[in-house]
Amino acid sequence: MADELDGHHTMRLEAGVALINALTGNHVHGRPKPALGGRDLVRAAAEAVGDTGNGRVDLSGAERLRNLASRLREIIESLSRREHDEAAGLLNRLLADSRARPSLHRHGDQTWHLHFHGPEADLVQQWTAGLAVSVAAAFGEQIPHRVGLCAAPRCDQVYIDASQARIKRFCGLACQNRVKAAAYRARRSGA
Ligand SMILES: [Zn+2]
Repeated sequence: MADELDGHHTMRLEAGVALINALTGNHVHGRPKPALGGRDLVRAAAEAVGDTGNGRVDLSGAERLRNLASRLREIIESLSRREHDEAAGLLNRLLADSRARPSLHRHGDQTWHLHFHGPEADLVQQWTAGLAVSVAAAFGEQIPHRVGLCAAPRCDQVYIDASQARIKRFCGLACQNRVKAAAYRARRSGA
């Protein structure tokens, strides 16, 4: 049961990280990142939440998802500055606005399972409630995952750290190698 709950949180966190990286941030791997609009915004938002080609995400839905992604980014940025009280306040406000509430759902002949939104919630409300709960579960250490902000210069991608020691610092190898190369050049010019 606990494992299954972890699995759902992990899946949602992965989608949340995809959403934040796709729709927000000014730099990626050292390069400026253009802001998305129109059809590009809709496509990126739909892809991040796994709605490929279903057409359930329209422009207003994509803009609401970008707003959600910005609020999540703000929370992760305060956490990375170790401003835990501020992060908790922002997260509590998001939980309240999302009207998250536990509720059992069953689709067709599936078994009953726990969701965090009511039956009337639209796609964006479903993601808002689910992500608020999963980010809160990660923050409260109910699940062994941490969401972090890339420590490399000119990159504001976020990542999931599932390592036990919680040592991940970069969004990926591109940024890790970039920082290593810069340190090497600095040492060489200093020598
Ligand atoms: Zn990075």
